[in-house]
Amino acid sequence: SLTIGIVGLPNVGKSTLFNALTKNDVLAANYPFATIEPNVGVVGLPDPRLAKLAELYDSQKVIPAPVSFVDIAGLVRGASKGQGRGNAFLANIRDASAICQVVRAFSDPNVVHVDGKVSPSDDIETINTELMLADLQTLEKALPRLEKEAKLRKERAPIAAAAAAAAKLLNEGTTLYAGAAAAGIDVADLRELHLLTTKPFLYVFNVDEEELANAEFLDELSALVAPAEAVFMDAKVESELIDLPEEEARELLESIGQPEPGLHQLIRVGFRTLGLQTYLTAGPKEARAWTIPVGATAPEAAGVIHSDFQRGFIKAETVSFTDLMEAGSMAAAKAAGKVRMEGKDYVMRDGDVVEFRFNV
Ligand code: GDP
Repeated sequence: SLTIGIVGLPNVGKSTLFNALTKNDVLAANYPFATIEPNVGVVGLPDPRLAKLAELYDSQKVIPAPVSFVDIAGLVRGASKGQGRGNAFLANIRDASAICQVVRAFSDPNVVHVDGKVSPSDDIETINTELMLADLQTLEKALPRLEKEAKLRKERAPIAAAAAAAAKLLNEGTTLYAGAAAAGIDVADLRELHLLTTKPFLYVFNVDEEELANAEFLDELSALVAPAEAVFMDAKVESELIDLPEEEARELLESIGQPEPGLHQLIRVGFRTLGLQTYLTAGPKEARAWTIPVGATAPEAAGVIHSDFQRGFIKAETVSFTDLMEAGSMAAAKAAGKVRMEGKDYVMRDGDVVEFRFNV
């Protein structure tokens, strides 16, 4: 499954955040792989629609979409040269599909900053530089071989050209995710090289709780990473929220002017950064969200439930969540003409409530 790798300098709050995330883990029972490794956490995508569906269908269970996070320790200055746990770190991060960088913006003088001062922009640069250096190393190692291959087999030429262009871009200080398209590089040509900076990024700014309501401050931080998405939270507050009964947690959030835990936002933004969306199914047994890539067709969506559903796909009886709720029941939605019979070319939309028809 697709995972989000959490990186950041030491002492920025990564473990605090990761522990809060995984304590939140309602999915461990449903997803056995959740407990395979101590640094992997599988958490449920918060989706208020599921509870409403479960009410409508009197479902026994609610099953949210799983989102995997992996805590990638060991990113320090010089990691690309093998400093710290350099190599283990690089192997771990290569497997992640998106990179979530935790950035310290809290001021606590009792928590030592590795570089002696709190500077989000410097920290972001340090991390980005390490990732770019790692990619440059990979490219410099591969280029002589790729160039040889390109001379022997012309279908290898685009790969060698893309690798050379990528090295140039990185030398200019631009990540591939930010700059490849503008430089005319097709990242698909680079896939075999497993580069780090081709992955989509998102940022968590770990801020003091008083700053969460300071829009000007948060806007400045957002501007550092735009167009990548930024999530703001106080990791310490988040770790306290996890241990509180629901009512008290709500009160604490209200007292700091937050509509929901920062972790919920992080999970949602992470999921979106992976290029994923969900469709929904409901019945007396369960109300459930299923994960599909944005752009998936109806048969592909059916295949996520079972490969037989995809193979024998006939059609998808589909209603949008909003229409279903407005109508008040599936029968009423049908009577109102809101339920569509979609065929094999239908491109799924987030929040479609679906029942598949298929041949066995
Ligand atoms: P990591 O090295 O990035 O995993 O950082 P940790 O999660 O271990 O946090 C380092 C220290 O900073 C610990 O003492 C945490 O309690 C503290 N810390 C983490 N988040 C916050 C925060 O939001 N505010 C404050 N004041 N301290 C924090």
